[in-house]
Amino acid sequence: EAIQISDMAHQMGVKASRLIRTLWGMGMRNITINNAVDVETAELVAAEFGYTIENVSFQEDEFIGAYEDEGELRAPVVTIMGHVDHGKTTLLDHIRKSQVAGGEAGGITQHIGAYRVETDQGPVVFIDTPGHEAFGAMRSRGAAVTDIVVLIVAADDGVMPTTREAIAHAKEAEVPIVVAINKIDKPDSNVGRVEQMLMKEGLVGEKFGGETTIAHISAKTGEGVNELLESLAVQAEVLELRAPVEGPAAGTVIESRVDKGRGTVATVLVQAGELHKGDIVVANEFSGKVRGLYTPAGKKVKNALPSTPVELLGLDGAPPAGERFHVVDSEKDARQIVSHRREQRRRKESVLSGPSLLERIKSKKVPSLKIVIKADVQGSAEALKNTLEELSVEKVRVEVIQAGVGAINETDVKLAAAAENPLIIGFNVKTVGKAAPLAEHEKIPIETFSVIYEATDRIRERMIDLLEPEY
Ligand code: GDP
Repeated sequence: EAIQISDMAHQMGVKASRLIRTLWGMGMRNITINNAVDVETAELVAAEFGYTIENVSFQEDEFIGAYEDEGELRAPVVTIMGHVDHGKTTLLDHIRKSQVAGGEAGGITQHIGAYRVETDQGPVVFIDTPGHEAFGAMRSRGAAVTDIVVLIVAADDGVMPTTREAIAHAKEAEVPIVVAINKIDKPDSNVGRVEQMLMKEGLVGEKFGGETTIAHISAKTGEGVNELLESLAVQAEVLELRAPVEGPAAGTVIESRVDKGRGTVATVLVQAGELHKGDIVVANEFSGKVRGLYTPAGKKVKNALPSTPVELLGLDGAPPAGERFHVVDSEKDARQIVSHRREQRRRKESVLSGPSLLERIKSKKVPSLKIVIKADVQGSAEALKNTLEELSVEKVRVEVIQAGVGAINETDVKLAAAAENPLIIGFNVKTVGKAAPLAEHEKIPIETFSVIYEATDRIRERMIDLLEPEY
C-alpha cells in the first residue's frame, strides 16, 4: 500500500491497463486501477518498463551534521554525566527550577526530557534524560545530539569508575568536556585533589595551562552554577555551532510517550530548519501532522528554530528516543516513507532474526516465557525488554513479543493470548477497558511495576515455575 497504480502509470507515461496486466502476469490477479502496490512490487513493475523508482524512499542519509558549518550560530546542547551520587539530578533540578525560560513562573516541574536555559551569555539546551543511558541509546542510533558533556565530579569523592567511563564515552564521540567539580559547600571537599585526579585522565584545567574548563559549583546552594552555564554558552561560539534556520525542520526525538488526553507527546530537539504547527512530520515508522507545539514550560508556540526542544503533538505513535524526525512535503510522502521503512525492517528482521532450522528445532524443547510489555515511555519499554530478555538461560527462555507505549488494553491481551506461557507487564501504566476481564478469562497474568528490578525478580520467579511445573 504505498504507490497508487494510477500515479505510477502517470509518472512513467504508460497506460494503467498495461501496468495492471504486468501485475496480473506477476500473479497479482485482483489488482485494479484503484489499488496501490508496495514499493518492492512497484520497483519490479517499473523495471519491466525500464524505470527505477526514485524518491520513494526518502533520503535516509545523514542529514544532520551535513549542515555543521552553515547557517546561524545556535545554542549548545549539553548532557550531564558523572558517577552516581555526584550530583547530576541535583544540578539538573536546580537549573530547571531556577533558570528555565528566563525564570518563567516556577520553572518546570514535570519531566520532559530536555529544556532550554537563558544566560547572560546566551541560551543553553540541556538533555535531561538519565545521562548515560540516553547518551548511549541516542548514539547507538547514530544520533549526534550532544555538543558538550558536562562531567560532574564530587569534590569529596573525586574521579570514580563511571567518571572514567563518561570521559571515554565523550572522547569516543568527539564531544568536548566541561568539568563541574560539585559539592564545594561540603567541609570535606578537596578541589585540589580532584583537579590532580582529573589531570591523570587528561583533563587539565586552564589555570594549569591546559584547555579544560573546570567550574567549581555547589548544585545544592547554587554557588557557581551561573558561571558554569555562562561558560557553556560561550563554548557555543568557540565551537562555532551553527544550523540553518530556514527550510523544512529536522532533528531528533529525545523522548516520547502516550498521554491519555493528548495522544502521542514527543519531546523533540529541532536541529535544522524551522518546525511549524501544521507541518507533516515523519519519525521512525510514525508520522502525522503537527497539531501543537509546546515549550518545556507548557507554553504554546507556533514554531521552533534549531537548538529548541519542543513537545510535539500529532504523531500516530511513539518513536523511540534517538530517532530522527523530519518534515516532508505531504501526507502522501509521509505514508510512502513509513511503509518503505516498515518493509525494510521486516526484510531485515526476516534475514537477521529468522532462526535457522537447527535453532528452531533446538529451541522447541525449551519452555519460553512470552511477554508483552507496556510502559509509559518508549525508553522504559526498551530498557525493560533488553533487561528481561537477558534473563534467558539455557533451560528457560524469555521472549518479549512486543514492547510498546500506553495503557494495557484488549489488543495486548489478545496478542498475549496467542502465545505460550504469556505474561503482560505494565510499567507505570494502568489496565484499561475490557483488558482485565479478558485477561482473567484467558488466564493471562497482568503485572504492573514501577521499578525495573521488581519486574526482573518477578520474571525470575516465573522462570523457576516453568522449570518445575506444579502438578
Ligand atoms: P546523581 O546520582 O548524580 O543524580 O546525584 P544526586 O543529584 O542524586 O545527588 C546525590 C546526593 O548528593 C544527594 O543527597 C544530594 O542532595 C547531594 N548533593 C548533590 N549536590 C550537592 C552539593 O552541591 N552539595 C551537597 N552538600 N550535597 C549535594
